[in-house]
Amino acid sequence: MNQGLSQSQENYRERLLKLTEDHERETRARDDIERELIRLVTRLCVAVSGLDTMLDPHLERLRRAAKRGGASGLLKQADELADALVHVSEDRVRPGVLQRLLERSEQGRTQADEVLQVWSAVAADPSGAHERDLDRLAELLGLATRPDAVASGGGGLFSRLLGRQPAAAGADGALHNRLLSELLGSMEWPVRLRVPVEECRARLALGSADDTWGEVLREVGTLAIDAIAEAENDSRTAQGFLAELSRHLEAFDEFMVNESGWGLASQAARERLDRSMSDEVESLSDTIRQSASLAELQAGVVASLSRMQAHVREHIEDENNRRTRAEAEADALRTRLHEVERDTFDLRRQVARSAEQALRDALTGLPNRRAYDERVAQEHARHRRFGDPLALLVLDIDDFKRINDTLGHKAGDKALVTIAGVLSRRLRETDFIARFGGEEFVLLLPGAAREDALRLADDMREAVHGCGLHASGRPVSMTVSGGLAFFAEADSADSVFERADKALYEAKGQGKNRIVAG
Ligand code: GH3
Ligand code: MG
Ligand code: MG
Repeated sequence: MNQGLSQSQENYRERLLKLTEDHERETRARDDIERELIRLVTRLCVAVSGLDTMLDPHLERLRRAAKRGGASGLLKQADELADALVHVSEDRVRPGVLQRLLERSEQGRTQADEVLQVWSAVAADPSGAHERDLDRLAELLGLATRPDAVASGGGGLFSRLLGRQPAAAGADGALHNRLLSELLGSMEWPVRLRVPVEECRARLALGSADDTWGEVLREVGTLAIDAIAEAENDSRTAQGFLAELSRHLEAFDEFMVNESGWGLASQAARERLDRSMSDEVESLSDTIRQSASLAELQAGVVASLSRMQAHVREHIEDENNRRTRAEAEADALRTRLHEVERDTFDLRRQVARSAEQALRDALTGLPNRRAYDERVAQEHARHRRFGDPLALLVLDIDDFKRINDTLGHKAGDKALVTIAGVLSRRLRETDFIARFGGEEFVLLLPGAAREDALRLADDMREAVHGCGLHASGRPVSMTVSGGLAFFAEADSADSVFERADKALYEAKGQGKNRIVAG
């Protein structure tokens, strides 16, 4: 078939084949380069992602575009990343931090412009920045030149710039800043000082120049003095508070221990106080839990204690009033009881006197007939029980009517009293005499046998006869007659009395002034 083609055709065919081969080779090479590029872009994206948050989204999109393949998407993302880089550079360097730093410095306008100018030059190509520019920049920024650092050359733009600082303020300064910042961060600052301390730490994080150190140290010193003053103030407040608390508690102790009112308190009052105190203790617990500051705690606790004291005072006052009332009532009752006792005593004495008077003869003071009735019953019972002799003597004043008639009734009374005395004085201890009525006397002579009784009766008669009674200056002869009887087994008091009275009648009949035994 080749033999059928012309020479020129043959040449064309060969050239076409060569072109085709070249094209295929170039396509393979381009594909290889494209793969390598995509791999490189992917690796770069991974390597630099995380360095800057503004760039990260662009890097991620670029990485995805690379993975998808296709030049248009990759180029679009690369363009966007480039734009972002430009903005970041502009934002961060010129109008941003450096500009604001220069505004804070004492640089003049011309110097500041020069700084920006030199900075732009070195920032445009940091790795190729010339040492001369860096020296100038350091000079403008007030950094001293360090020959060995200049000589060493390498490193990033900032480290090369900062390498021009004095040794003490260089890498050591950064370390010191970090240590000082950590020290400040580890301390427990009062709430009020936490914000200024954090501001100091932020400034320490920003730079390590001498000025920063000095200012921050001065500020930290001021803060520390403030903190100490605040702590001392808190301590004084706490001490004052504790002293006040102690006074309140002592007052409480005094109330609890010394007030006798507690022991006398009524059940209801005690329960009322218990309830009030429980409420206050609960309120005190709330105060302690909820207080945000020492001053608030102090005010709350003191208020609570004051209320408790008020409750106790009120309780004691009530109890004192109650006690005072009770004591007044008890006094009144005691007085009334005393009066009643006195009345009762008087009444009893009066009753006793009345009873005694009821048994006594008013004129002569001798027991009366009623007393005789009682006594004769007792003596008769005794006689019957023991069998001792018991004599009964009845005495009657002779012709007494005549005395009354001649000397008067008063003289008669006087004679009655005198004779009662004469008879009483001659009685033995166990004997008994009573005015039986008118001018008659009756005597009981226990233990007196017949002869003894007769002798005693006659002695009495004799004593009356010789008693020497006078009336109106003249002697008055007085005599008595007597009838004697003795208790026998079957006798009653009346029957014995009758026998004695009968004997008396016989004595009168025999001429008076004599004793007759029945
Ligand atoms: P006889 O010797 O018989 O006993 O005579 P008599 O006068 O004593 O007895 P009579 O019964 O006749 O009188 C008794 C008097 O005693 C009468 C009465 O006035 C008087 N007499 C009785 N009681 C009292 C009294 O208390 N005081 C006075 N002064 N006289 C009294
Ligand atoms: Mg008589
Ligand atoms: Mg008589």
